Amino acid sequence: MLKIKYSSNLEDSYYKSIATSKADKFKGLTFEEYYDKHYKRILQSDLKDILCGDFEKLLEIKTQHGTKFKDDKKTKRLFNYDKQSTNNFEPLISKLQPKISKFFEQYVEVHTCYYCNIEFINTFKKHNETKNAFTLDHVLEKVTYPFLALSLYNLAPSCYTCNSKVKDSKIEFDKFSPTNQNFDFTEKVKFKIFLQNPNLQIDKENDFFVKLIENFSNQYDAYIESLNLDDRYEYHKYKVIELIKKRRDYPDSRLKELSILTGKTEEEIKQDLFGVYLDNKNLHKRPLSKLTKDILEQLEII
Ligand SMILES: [Zn+2]
Repeated sequence: MLKIKYSSNLEDSYYKSIATSKADKFKGLTFEEYYDKHYKRILQSDLKDILCGDFEKLLEIKTQHGTKFKDDKKTKRLFNYDKQSTNNFEPLISKLQPKISKFFEQYVEVHTCYYCNIEFINTFKKHNETKNAFTLDHVLEKVTYPFLALSLYNLAPSCYTCNSKVKDSKIEFDKFSPTNQNFDFTEKVKFKIFLQNPNLQIDKENDFFVKLIENFSNQYDAYIESLNLDDRYEYHKYKVIELIKKRRDYPDSRLKELSILTGKTEEEIKQDLFGVYLDNKNLHKRPLSKLTKDILEQLEII
């Protein structure tokens, strides 16, 4: 739903944190050296492209190999995200997942779920140690594309509900990933109110429904469907009712009066009343802010 906010120059640090990792099974080599020796010939890509290539690059690598490594144990053993040793699976390296999470805490802005903007996924301190409330979803499934299991731009900080309970892995987003710099869902797709009866005004939740509508195309349909967004926002119609009622209490003339009375600009009055982040770059900071902004646009407040 919202494009992920990364710090600048994070690729080098990410690459270093994985590529220089050592493990007993590498026999004195680093991850990078082990990859170059045993995997590069098969995967035909530089490790740097696999780990830190942008999402377009990852799609290229995905297309190049298709699903042929789906059941390939050799690939899964090296590109191991979180699996522990079992009788029939022995990863070459483990414990990368906590390391990757720490990296995201440091280099990625995590406030609300980038997929749904419904839940907080913030970090917090416990006994002076930073903890987080996010999961990292593999946009391109690690089961199907194991060679992309550790790729920086294949990981989306998201809430547990999106990652583990809702996302339908059968519906691939492909290039519509919030990790992709071309991701423009925020601008293209808007929440819209539809009245059940056009002759009546909205007083209660049954009077209307809310749906995500894309302007001029339907490229994001799979994204909306896979994350079940329309149905999940049904629960949050209370927010829309609040905004509509407030709008009735504060028509433009009243906003103007308040501005004169308080010496604040009309923009400031609107922010006080509707508590919304008015520009796209702050939407990820609070839950339901995309819904709020889109509805306020429809109510002609912003
Ligand atoms: Zn979510």
